[in-house]
Amino acid sequence: MATPSGGSSGKLRPVRLTARQARALERIHAELQEIGLCLPGSVVLRTGRCGKTACSCRADPPRLHGPFRSWTRKVANKTVTRLLSEEQLADYQVLFDNHRRLKALVRELEELSLSAVESDPRWRRH
Ligand SMILES: [Zn+2]
Repeated sequence: MATPSGGSSGKLRPVRLTARQARALERIHAELQEIGLCLPGSVVLRTGRCGKTACSCRADPPRLHGPFRSWTRKVANKTVTRLLSEEQLADYQVLFDNHRRLKALVRELEELSLSAVESDPRWRRH
């Protein structure tokens, strides 16, 4: 079992978690353990025109191509886009949802940690 201050006990001895904070930490740990594969990025549906001049996408009224399921994510500060089939999106949706949940849990853990170190009495020495 984890100690109230986290897995590597002792290092944060002056930091005391309240009972509520300790419960929150346990819940975050439990939820993190349940998360499976996580896909970063976002998926948007796009329609568009192709390069052919005599195509229905340039008719009046136009019949645009698509919808395309466009998955974008950042790789080394560059946006990478890939198209997903309908079947891929259906299969991957839970992985995108997992990633969103993971990011929310990381934020919760950061907030909890920030409020936990507030109880450190050494702040008062400065
Ligand atoms: Zn076209």
